[in-house]
Amino acid sequence: MITPAFAFHMFLHVAVPVLVAAIFYRKHFSSSALNMLGGIVIDIDHLFATPILDPGRCSVGFHLLHSYWLIPVYVALAIYPRSRLAGLGLVIHIILDASACNWQALSANW
Ligand SMILES: [Zn+2]
Repeated sequence: MITPAFAFHMFLHVAVPVLVAAIFYRKHFSSSALNMLGGIVIDIDHLFATPILDPGRCSVGFHLLHSYWLIPVYVALAIYPRSRLAGLGLVIHIILDASACNWQALSANW
């Protein structure tokens, strides 16, 4: 079931890259936003999990493309100028997923 918190999380996956493009890449807003929105593509690894969507599950460290060892690769992509936008999209994606994990952990302890 999709909870309001999960729907908000999915909204942030779109809103944050668009906001970053609007603030830092104003001259090339559309192409920059689209490149960063490509970070959503790593959620394709959800297709290999059962259930595919579980709002209570932490993606980071669970799904293959959300593995801890890949995070430095995404950061490196964000540092290298030619892959910066795609890397930023991936880093933003991981940060949003990790903050959702922290939020889940906090609300579970209430
Ligand atoms: Zn994800």
